Amino acid sequence: MDLGKLSKERKYVSDVTLSDEGKKVTVAGWVYDDRDLGKVRFIVLRDVSGELQVTGVKGETEEKIFKLMGGISRESAVVIKGIVKKSPKAPGGRELFPSEIDILSKAEHPLPIDVSDFSKTELPKRLDYRFLDLHRKRTQAIFRIQSTLMQGYREFMVGEGAIEANFPSIIGSSSEGGTELFKAKYFEKEVYLSQSCQLYKQMVACAMEKVFAVFTVWRAEKHNTIRHLNESRQFDFEMAFADEFVAMDYLARSLQFAVKKIIEKNSKELELLGIKLKVPTTKYMTFKEANELLKKHKVETSPNDLTGEGEKKLGELFPDVIVFVHDWPLEGKTFYIMPKGKDLSCGFDAIYKGMEISSGGQRIHLPELLTERLKAKGLNPKDFTSYIDSFRYGAPPHAGFGMGVERLTMVMLELNNIREAVMFPRDRDRLTP
Ligand code: ATP
Ligand code: MG
Repeated sequence: MDLGKLSKERKYVSDVTLSDEGKKVTVAGWVYDDRDLGKVRFIVLRDVSGELQVTGVKGETEEKIFKLMGGISRESAVVIKGIVKKSPKAPGGRELFPSEIDILSKAEHPLPIDVSDFSKTELPKRLDYRFLDLHRKRTQAIFRIQSTLMQGYREFMVGEGAIEANFPSIIGSSSEGGTELFKAKYFEKEVYLSQSCQLYKQMVACAMEKVFAVFTVWRAEKHNTIRHLNESRQFDFEMAFADEFVAMDYLARSLQFAVKKIIEKNSKELELLGIKLKVPTTKYMTFKEANELLKKHKVETSPNDLTGEGEKKLGELFPDVIVFVHDWPLEGKTFYIMPKGKDLSCGFDAIYKGMEISSGGQRIHLPELLTERLKAKGLNPKDFTSYIDSFRYGAPPHAGFGMGVERLTMVMLELNNIREAVMFPRDRDRLTP
């Protein structure tokens, strides 16, 4: 097969229309379905754009081709040439009468997973065969939407004048002082995989004002939950001369922009997934107000964090709303979040559709205060010398957020496991594919 020639000749099936009636076209894709009615044989060919019915008729279709049509295993990759004919009964009102069929890659059978739209195969097994699961329309719909989400976030941030940055994934010491880091060997040293690009985005913001990244993070959380991965992606943003309310505004507008883009570009995918997506509005409340509201609804609260149940309730009370919970207790935020008075902080969480999608806040840009906060959190300022020193030379007040890409995809598309929202998940038990 001359693939160069094929890529020039080939038509995507969604571009094969009635205006091609009587013309010869070349299409390529996978055998999605087949039916043998004795005198008539059908193949439904699927490519990235859609589906096309290919019809063979005994006595009319060349015998060799007709015979072949009865024996191509489903999900095999094929190239088909044929004449387009009008067919009111076929999807799209047209079908293809084949004159040539090339099998480029035969799918072995039985297939290890059910690749129908409503696959009966359980998620772990589908993930074992993710390469085949990606043949499914539902799976493709999720990742097309996620792709639009990422484009939308980038487009918004670039439009706001932010620069896109890349940060190192190997770090010499913990950025957050947490214990949930993966260790790695780096020559004769012990290093860690980054759990956030916090320090780096702050340094860039303090010089270049607005910076964003789509950054991979690793967290060695031992528990397997439906909302945590050990490797995930974050939409990061950091901005100088800004407080947490500026950061919340950027978060809200970036998400609204991206959702609008998804609604415009992915209506077919949303319909397939049965999701009615609305551009979210915003609501702001203090942590205290949020907990009072939750108590009124008899939901369990906790002094320094929202409970999972609390997040869920906020999603029920405010559907299609990004709920910003700010004035967060200082105790419940990391050391680099700016204090607000004695007990509160300039930190916030964003809750959307019943789950935390982001944490953010104004950061501490004052070396003395940073040292004090590190000590208060039981950390040794000596371990953070270069971080603290980076604020000694004209670092302005600044704020930002980190928003989970897969977490956001999960809540937006109402998926019941975050693993559905990542092509190749890394969790405690999964390292392949
Ligand atoms: P959670 O309380 O939901 O575990 P977190 O507060 O520990 O999240 P942050 O450090 O605030 O997480 O990270 C920012 C965002 O990144 C979160 O709001 C969430 O959207 C996402 N996120 C955090 N941890 C994970 C994870 N293990 N897997 C996938 N996404 C994550
Ligand atoms: Mg958080």
